[in-house]
Amino acid sequence: MTVSPTLGSPVRYLKGVGPARERLLARIDVNTIGDLLLTFPRRYEDRRNLTPLRDLVPGSTCFVLAKVVDFQQRKARSRKLSISRVVITDGSTMAEAVWFNIRGLEKAMTPGKKIALYGRIEQKYGRLQIQSPDFEVIEEEDDLQEMGKIVPVYPSTAGIYQKWLRRTIRMALSLFLSEVHDILPEEIMECRDMPPVHEAIMAMHYPGDRKSWARSRKRLAYEEFFLLQTALALRKKSFGEGAGRAPQCTSHGDLAKRYLSDILTFELTGAQRKVISQIEKDMAGHVPMHRLVQGDVGSGKTVVAVYALLLAVDNGYQGLFMAPTEILAHQHFSRLKDHFEQIGIRSALLTGSMGSAEKREILEKTASGAIQILVGTHALFQDEVAYHDVGLVVVDEQHRFGVMQRNALKSKGEDPHMLVMTATPIPRTLTLSVYGDLAVSVMDEMPPGRQAVETKWIRPSNLSRLLGFLRKEVDQGRQVYWVCPLIEDSESIDSTPLNERYDFLKDVFTDLDIGILHGKLPQDEKDRNMAGFAVGEIQILVATTIVEVGVDVPNASIMVIEDATRFGLSQLHQLRGRVGRGRHRSFCILVAEPGNSDALERIRTMCSTNDGFRIAEVDLKLRGPGELCGLRQHGVTDFRVADLLRDRDLLYLAREDAFSLVERDPHLKGHPQLRERVYQDLGETLHLVETG
Ligand code: ADP
Ligand code: MG
Repeated sequence: MTVSPTLGSPVRYLKGVGPARERLLARIDVNTIGDLLLTFPRRYEDRRNLTPLRDLVPGSTCFVLAKVVDFQQRKARSRKLSISRVVITDGSTMAEAVWFNIRGLEKAMTPGKKIALYGRIEQKYGRLQIQSPDFEVIEEEDDLQEMGKIVPVYPSTAGIYQKWLRRTIRMALSLFLSEVHDILPEEIMECRDMPPVHEAIMAMHYPGDRKSWARSRKRLAYEEFFLLQTALALRKKSFGEGAGRAPQCTSHGDLAKRYLSDILTFELTGAQRKVISQIEKDMAGHVPMHRLVQGDVGSGKTVVAVYALLLAVDNGYQGLFMAPTEILAHQHFSRLKDHFEQIGIRSALLTGSMGSAEKREILEKTASGAIQILVGTHALFQDEVAYHDVGLVVVDEQHRFGVMQRNALKSKGEDPHMLVMTATPIPRTLTLSVYGDLAVSVMDEMPPGRQAVETKWIRPSNLSRLLGFLRKEVDQGRQVYWVCPLIEDSESIDSTPLNERYDFLKDVFTDLDIGILHGKLPQDEKDRNMAGFAVGEIQILVATTIVEVGVDVPNASIMVIEDATRFGLSQLHQLRGRVGRGRHRSFCILVAEPGNSDALERIRTMCSTNDGFRIAEVDLKLRGPGELCGLRQHGVTDFRVADLLRDRDLLYLAREDAFSLVERDPHLKGHPQLRERVYQDLGETLHLVETG
């Protein structure tokens, strides 16, 4: 028995699609028949206006109908090239069409056959020539598929021809479009004036006019936003299902207060106060907090996190503070340990590379509650860790996480408040898409007295001047980060590797201590070098982007980024954030030879602004959401139609509609098809748990 193919079937179930084409299609993200229906044109060709041959103008692209008069094929002198030449007429005059290295034409182009051509007109040896046109042989007059109309041009890849792709998509549409369901609630379709989904899909492939195309595009973009926002609304709702079990923190927090008054040597910024009061309010509630704090590098997020942790301890709960790397976990802990001690709090550090005896002791003390605040890496969430009533989890600089840890904790019977912090400014539209289920705080103010970092761009040929500048700064007591994209020599990338640069700098600055830092070094060597740099024994630290997040050495005032165009904007901005943290005039030197306009725009943007949010907007424009700030949330922002920059208003609309729908119908009981699609498309990505 054969099973008839459906939308979800692999494309090879279609006639004419074999294993080879299936592999090629996968390159343009087409795997199923359904994908094919939703592979929309990149652009369109307007082939509606028929041009008589006598009106052909060199340089233009035209649609003509004509009869074959003569066909010839010959080899060029090189013999690698075969040239097919067809003389045509439409009664008004004659012209010729030319193709190179095309086979099988002699059968189609017999004299007297009627053909339709679309291509570019050139003047060659005094004659008008249509070069390598698209063509169709006309059997029946009204049978033209790709002529005399607006024709889609699809995203393609080597080995897949437009003509074949058009035909295949057309076939898929005729066989399978009827299987696509309208999943938007009727009341929304009506009040937002959305066309039915079949109409919209057809109009995207074969638009009648600009207006119906725009309306259809809007409908499909809206649907993408709506699905994601519905998923996020459901997830947010599911946080609330922990209501009642949340570790309510209503006590006013003596420890937290003492931290501010006795330990910190500075006043909080307005932004810190604002965010702290938002957190206090969340943590006092009976629904677990899920809050994202966004603040540019150096805006002082750590203070806010520590305050929140102390608030949890004040109320009898344990606090977990997770950093993304061992370096950062060490750095946080070495700074906070004394502060915690001074106010009588027992804290510890837990990382993966720890010795087992030491680890065992910490695990025991964590389970018994003897440790009140545990700082660490991912190791904090391993199976072997048992807690003692976790009240708050802070996740620092690790926006890629969050939900997974929360589920891990839940499975251990904990449902703590969550605070996620990121120094990666994200445009609001992207925040709503990726973190649409979280409450968001923005730290939009810097502690006073910060120096704006001056950013300069130099070419590699000017390295000697840079070295002179570094010598002067180091002689005045400053320290330097020198970041290289690669550790070792690579065949494919032409860039000075870290090891080589390290040796070079040691040769140039024989009297200085130069350190090296990258992920492949043994942990103790990393620690030693980082510590040496932190206390000023090492003057120049040659490193990979391992120093990108969080590292804080206020005396370091120069960041050299070699081969800077290899990095994305957000990453460059992060790296730059390592300097300008003390009272010294600070510099970021981008060493680069931009090879294209995108690279140049990145360098220029860095030189012209220090504003993380502006940089993020440019980054979104240049790279699209998938790549932005390493936020590879697969599937979440891979829209087919919607565009986070262009369709921002539509996003707000879809969000409003989706959240109010989930408010009215929390389990989508009245919208089974919508529900099915949400779980099918996004359930796994968003770790949605089916309920009800
Ligand atoms: P980030 O937001 O990048 O995590 P940090 O929390 O590491 O920033 O803070 C950066 C530096 O600013 C630290 O040295 C910290 O002690 C200092 N800092 C934080 N808040 C203030 C403030 N209100 N006034 C002055 N300095 C502050
Ligand atoms: Mg930080």
